Parts: sequence; C-alpha cells; structure tokens
Amino acid sequence: MIAYRPQLCRFAALVAGVCWLALALARPQEKAGGDDPAIPAAWLDVLTGGLPIIVGAPHGGELRPSELPDRPVGVLLRDAGTDDLARRLADELGKQFGRRPHLIVCEVHRAKVDCNRELTEAAQGHPLTEALWRAYHRAVGEAADAVHREWGAGLYIDLHGQSHATARVEWGYRLKAADLALSDEKIDVDPALAGVVSVRDAVARSGKPFSAVVRGTNSLGGLLERAGFPSVPSPAHPHPGGGPYFSGGYNVQKYGSAGGGTLSAVQIEAPRRGVRDTAENRQRFAAALAAALGIWFREHYRIDLAAPSARGKTVPGR
Ligand SMILES: [Zn+2]
Repeated sequence: MIAYRPQLCRFAALVAGVCWLALALARPQEKAGGDDPAIPAAWLDVLTGGLPIIVGAPHGGELRPSELPDRPVGVLLRDAGTDDLARRLADELGKQFGRRPHLIVCEVHRAKVDCNRELTEAAQGHPLTEALWRAYHRAVGEAADAVHREWGAGLYIDLHGQSHATARVEWGYRLKAADLALSDEKIDVDPALAGVVSVRDAVARSGKPFSAVVRGTNSLGGLLERAGFPSVPSPAHPHPGGGPYFSGGYNVQKYGSAGGGTLSAVQIEAPRRGVRDTAENRQRFAAALAAALGIWFREHYRIDLAAPSARGKTVPGR
C-alpha cells in the first residue's frame, strides 16, 4: 500500500492537470457572451436595416467611460468623423433607396477598445471591454444573418480614416500593394489572389473579371473617383504606387468571403482632407458612396437596392 501511494498521488495530479488543461482549451476565446456583464446602451449604436449592406464604424467612438481601463498597448487614435460619416451614409442610403443599411457604431474611444482587432489585443483582458467587443461583433453577426435571409448575399463596409500624405480613399479588399501592382491580366487569373480577396463572392456573382470588380470603371473606387473622390484602387490609380496603403484588417478578413460564404467585405480608409474634415464634405462623400453602392449592386449582383420587396429583386436581363 505504502509503496504505491505516491504513484496514486502522481496519477491524481496528472488527471487533475489534464482536466484543467481540457477546461482551459474548451473555453473559447471568442465565447458567445451569454454570461457577459451588461454594457450601457450608449456604448454601441446599432440600427437594424433593410438593405444587403452593413456599415460598421469600429474606430469612430469618442466616449471614454471610467469603468473601462485605457489600453496600455496598441493603436489608440480614433478615426475622427467616421461615426458621423457612417450615420450620414445610412441616412443617404435610406433617402436614395427607401431603406437603410444595418449600422453598427462603436461609441467608445479606441483608447479603450479596438473592435477591428482580435479579442486579446482589442480588450487586453478586461471583462467589460471584452463584453463590448463581443456585443459589436454579435451585432455584425446578426446583421449578416438578416442580410443572408432577406437578400441571399451582401456587403459589409468597415469604415475607417487615415491621414496619409496623398489624400485619397483607400479601398481594402485584403489585396496587398504588391498584388495590385500586377496587371489586370495577371490578377484575373491568379488563383492565390482569388482565395484572398474579401469580395470573392461578389466576383463570382458578377461574372466579370476580378479586376473589374476591385478596380474597374464600375468598382467602388472607380465610381467614387468619377464622383470627385480620388481612390485607390481605381482605373486612375490601379495600385498605391509605393505610398502607404491599408489593404484591409481584422474585420474585413472576418466578414469577407475569401474563405466562402455570401457576405463580402471592404475596408474604406477615408482621408481627412476632403472627406472627413467638414460636415459638408462628409455629406458629399456619403451621398456619392450611397449612389455608387446602388450602381455596384446593380452591376455585380443584379440587385436593385430600390426594389419595393423586402426580399429584394434581381434586375432582369441586361
Ligand atoms: Zn481605423
């Protein structure tokens, strides 16, 4: 008895260790959040819309609630004006097409939470910050379900702001500057890029070459460039040309269709000068983007955003 008791103890310790490890591994990092602490409604602005469009503004918030600690590391600057720009875009879409998009604006400052990063960097271990992060992504997930149910496919727009020296709108589809530097003939047939691009489903539905969807005349960049907002990629600026360029971050990867699914995604990096700097410019950009989305959906999805049916209507024979 005495001889093997230490072995029993070691065995019990081993079992306990394995059980603890199993429990630790079983706890998903991005859990559903059912046991999350409640967050104040003012921290997150969620609008349930009726279009196949979801507008997210993860970095537009200004609130600095004392309950949330400052994040010690990470990018802490907010994208000024993107909260207002997102709301103006929602209103413009409503005005032009009779229905608004789904809208999710994080009203808390990026110094406290980053809803365009994975959870560890976003919340840095604080339970209430984690609850806010999960609420943002739960709202996007619910909007995505509604879009799928009502329209079959759609677009998530992640709205951001940058202050690069060349003031132009940067459209991020997860394609690197080096990818965009390739010719249309090359990107149209590169199977590796087809598996990366966040609008993969839109390209499949369009039936047009890959390059036409991301930088052709009727790409979002092409349409906004024509409306007076210099854009990259677009026919005029097919690639960033060596300057700084944001190709699309966490949310575009998470919600885009590169890995399958019917929700595509694009990151819009709006310059300050000419787009975010004044209420008038934000309004001009919102109106131009809403009109461009109408053309983009008609051109690539054969969906008429103004169709009276809540289910949406495809545009017959063009
Ligand atoms: Zn941002």
